[in-house]
Amino acid sequence: MRYQPVMGLEIHCELLTDSKVFCSCQNEFGGSENTRVCPRCSGMPGTLPLLNKGAVKLAAKAGFATNCTVHNYSAFDRKNYFYPDLPKAYQITQFESPICTDGYIDVVGGKRIRINRIHIEEDAGKLVHDDYEGISLADYNRCGVPLIEIVTEPDFRTVEEVQDFVVQIAQRMQYSGVCDARMEQGSLRVDVNISLMPYGSDEFGTRAEIKNLNSVKSIGRAIEYEIQRQSEILDNGGEVVQETRRYNENHDDTKALRSKEEAHDYRYFPEPDIPPVLFTDEEIEEIRKEMPELPHKRFERYTEEYKIPAEDAKLIIAQKAFSDFYDEAVSAVPEYKMISNLMLGEVSHQLNETGMSIDEVRFSPADVAKTAEMAAKGVISKGSAKDMIVIMFEKGGAPEDIAKENGFIMDNDTSGLDDIIDGVLAAQADVVEKYKNGNEKLFGFIMGQVIKAAGKGANPALIKEALTAKLK
Ligand SMILES: [Zn+2]
Repeated sequence: MRYQPVMGLEIHCELLTDSKVFCSCQNEFGGSENTRVCPRCSGMPGTLPLLNKGAVKLAAKAGFATNCTVHNYSAFDRKNYFYPDLPKAYQITQFESPICTDGYIDVVGGKRIRINRIHIEEDAGKLVHDDYEGISLADYNRCGVPLIEIVTEPDFRTVEEVQDFVVQIAQRMQYSGVCDARMEQGSLRVDVNISLMPYGSDEFGTRAEIKNLNSVKSIGRAIEYEIQRQSEILDNGGEVVQETRRYNENHDDTKALRSKEEAHDYRYFPEPDIPPVLFTDEEIEEIRKEMPELPHKRFERYTEEYKIPAEDAKLIIAQKAFSDFYDEAVSAVPEYKMISNLMLGEVSHQLNETGMSIDEVRFSPADVAKTAEMAAKGVISKGSAKDMIVIMFEKGGAPEDIAKENGFIMDNDTSGLDDIIDGVLAAQADVVEKYKNGNEKLFGFIMGQVIKAAGKGANPALIKEALTAKLK
């Protein structure tokens, strides 16, 4: 390809407050249409907004989670436009003086992506289109839901950088309690600005904006499509038009929504009904102190201190609750790798099978830790450890009891083992012959026969040792 893609992002995150940003309506996803509205958020004339302090605090936390400066002074502005999902005909946002600026996140390949700003604003409602009746209906439940918008510089050059950034933002917002980052429910939505320039050039081309992408996969596909589309235009000597486009998952393409000629003049002006937000340095410091350990710091701890492979560490930190569970387990028993293996293996498998989340399971982090400890000490085999997890999923119970009741406690007494092995070797004389003639793969089969003969609770490690000695 002859062109270098250049991308920037605008990410909207719905804040995890109890109530909306300028009224006391419940802030929760769902609900019957127009049941979570009041005169304020439905834009009745004469009503006044009252700023939600919790929303401001979460916006500051988003700033700390992304290395931004959190400002002592920020203020609100009105962005004027008419659309049926916005009953006031203006959106309250922060234009001139956003709460956070000048942050960054390092993405794959060690590249630093600069964050221009994070500002607070209110969400709009939703239009529900009924194609059958040929009508559109307005649902105002989402009006006034608190949002932050994270705006990056156009620093992205590859799809991988964009996707890694979005995953990191989602995780950091989740860890900080700012946003649940459920992209499929629209609580985190991504707009991608994309333009192409010839390799070697440093002059950006004309950009198109793809709105409201709601999965990491869609982001990748929409960018790939847009690179293709713009390349073809440029190859044919045409000009890319500055416009807003929508990605359609079913068709896997992007379609123009509106061009620059139709772009709004938002006529921003300071919001007269909300005083500026003022923080003292001490207040900012108080909020900073509440920040939890962020996912990239956990990743470092897992890989550097605990020596967990990077791929595994990535999987553990992906969900905060899962990572918290792991942390609690290893703080009880420092069997880092064994606990990681159990959690990414049988625990994850069972969670996927049952559709449960880690908060809902019948066992505690201490139970997983105990199981790992028993396996590490050779009290039970690693295979039995997995079986124990399955049983704890189904019925719960103390690991020691489960191990006893199910005969998982290994017999580490090797006195009877010689006779058992001799018996198997005699019974499988022809297999043993082949093994001795060089077919080494048969070791596993012979080993299996001995374990079977030795019965439940036999210690595979000891059997392997004894069998290897015998077969020499
Ligand atoms: Zn309301």
